[in-house]
Amino acid sequence: MSDHDVLVIGAGFSGLYQLHSLRGLGFDAHVIEAGDDVGGTWYWNRYPGARCDIESIEYSYSFDADLEQEWNWSERYAAQPELLSYARHVADRFDLRKDITFGTRVQKLEWDEVTTRWRVFTNDGASRTARHVVAATGCLSVPSRPDFAGLDDFRGEIHWTSSWPHEGVDLSGKRVAVVGTGSSGLQTITAIAPVVGELTVFQRTPCFAVPAHNGPIVKRLAAAKKRYPEIRQHNRTSPDGFQCHGGAVPLLEAEPGAIQPEFDKRWDEGGLCFDRSFPDILTDIRANEVAADYVRSRIRAKVQDQELAEKLSPRSYPIASKRMCVDTGYYEVYNQSNVSLIDINEQPIHRFTEHGILAGETAHEFDVIVLATGFDAMTGALNAMEIRNGDKTLKDKWAHGPRTYLGLMSAGFPNLFTVCGPQSPSVLSNMLTSIEYHVEWITAALQHLRDQGLTRMEAVPENEDNWVDTTNDLADLTLMPRAASWYMGANIPGKQRVFMPFVGGVGLYRQIADGVAVARYHGFELA
Ligand code: FAD
Ligand code: NAP
Repeated sequence: MSDHDVLVIGAGFSGLYQLHSLRGLGFDAHVIEAGDDVGGTWYWNRYPGARCDIESIEYSYSFDADLEQEWNWSERYAAQPELLSYARHVADRFDLRKDITFGTRVQKLEWDEVTTRWRVFTNDGASRTARHVVAATGCLSVPSRPDFAGLDDFRGEIHWTSSWPHEGVDLSGKRVAVVGTGSSGLQTITAIAPVVGELTVFQRTPCFAVPAHNGPIVKRLAAAKKRYPEIRQHNRTSPDGFQCHGGAVPLLEAEPGAIQPEFDKRWDEGGLCFDRSFPDILTDIRANEVAADYVRSRIRAKVQDQELAEKLSPRSYPIASKRMCVDTGYYEVYNQSNVSLIDINEQPIHRFTEHGILAGETAHEFDVIVLATGFDAMTGALNAMEIRNGDKTLKDKWAHGPRTYLGLMSAGFPNLFTVCGPQSPSVLSNMLTSIEYHVEWITAALQHLRDQGLTRMEAVPENEDNWVDTTNDLADLTLMPRAASWYMGANIPGKQRVFMPFVGGVGLYRQIADGVAVARYHGFELA
């Protein structure tokens, strides 16, 4: 049976960097990945139009200056094939594949207190041991597959955006339905509308989308290459982990004449920085409504049919309390005569049928149905494994919501680290910034243990309790918990509703976690 210093689960951006960092320090590290290649998110989500919503220049590793200089992004927001190529390039450049087992899923982790090791069981019937395990299993890696009545009756093709066929799908001229209007649905709809015969979108909740203004970035890239250290330094200490300069004056205190120009400026720049126009957008519903109204006015200007524009305009949750979408012509799609929208609040999906979907009174016929229904976010991949210490499992411990110290460890489960775990900034930020920070923090902790001749590290329950309270209290100071979002676990039936990410921002979080490390890992018990 193999034994490792560290076993890493997952070969997405987190797992790749974790392996590289540990190997560089002489640890025996090994990665197990369910997919057949590296890339994680960008390996699985190959749907048409998939691309990042953080600029590629920043949605990339910063740990190697040569890598930064040699890689050339072709677009402001790279598409999935380019992001996957980048992950593959990193794996090859740093010779990572030799320490990755592909096509294998970790099913169970069992802690052995006597040997202070994890025993790791995989779906091929094998097991290994490791002193430490790093779960780099992804925040958005377990698809949510709603149990639509009659799903198996449909005789056409059904495809989930989260596991799109690698060989692609020919949609030209076909009658296609898309269910779901989050980021995945929106990107798919925008990309396929020009090629399909008819497109019918089933919308439960409209999204707020800001323009990407995507395009080639030759000059921008050249300029960025000259100042990468400065860009990265800003990102590491910023709230969102990317180049976004938040407005200082609250909207409710701003000169009335200054509000619209500020929104216009950010709209024209494009991207997710829109919600940082004024600092009270995420804390005061009155300010939030002004921002939401602005986006709704933009939707009305883009969509010719004003009744349709209203249906596409979110009104049931504060803007930015769900991750906003970054679009490349989404709303304009609805001006095409072959595209229609079904609001499933008015015409509920009763069931899938042999030929399509029965919604309201109407039986719609389709050749292909695309399901873009999201993920069991943040806890899904961790709870999918049986993580056991004696008679306790992590899943049981988290039945009423995840409990972690700094999103890095959970008390009762020693030597198990999570990259971008719940109660860390992760999904609220440019994830590459957060991933790199967590990987570096974990690597430094493991180095510290080794240097001190220590073999065991565990979060102290009281410190974990304080951290969970802190993250909940901070979230409650904002409007974020007001949306039925995946941040809240609200998209999964039966999942406890609790706001999972840390809203305090990347920079503040870093100060806290750095302080903990400097104070000899205060709040962790080292033995
Ligand atoms: P993942 O990329 O999810 O990789 C985790 C890997 O672990 C997967 O390959 C999975 O197969 C493997 N795994 C999980 N469980 C097991 C197991 N039990 N055994 C073996 N292997 C396992 N974030 C941004 O900041 N900007 C973006 O633009 C952005 N766009 C996104 C677009 C999509 C479509 C999605 C779904 C997410 C997006 N995200 C984005 C979030 C994205 O998940 C992160 O940016 C980042 O790619 C996560 O990397 P990761 O390595 O932590 O996790
Ligand atoms: P999502 O945001 O959770 O969207 C899922 C969509 O499916 C929602 O519109 C949801 O409606 C709908 N839905 C879910 N269950 C349904 C049901 N039973 N019946 C009808 N509709 C249903 O998931 P996602 O679009 O995959 O995005 C998840 C996250 O991944 C994003 O927020 C983002 O962080 C990341 N992502 C980023 C990009 C990018 O731009 N780079 C692209 C894709 C994903 P409700 O809103 O009513 O629940």
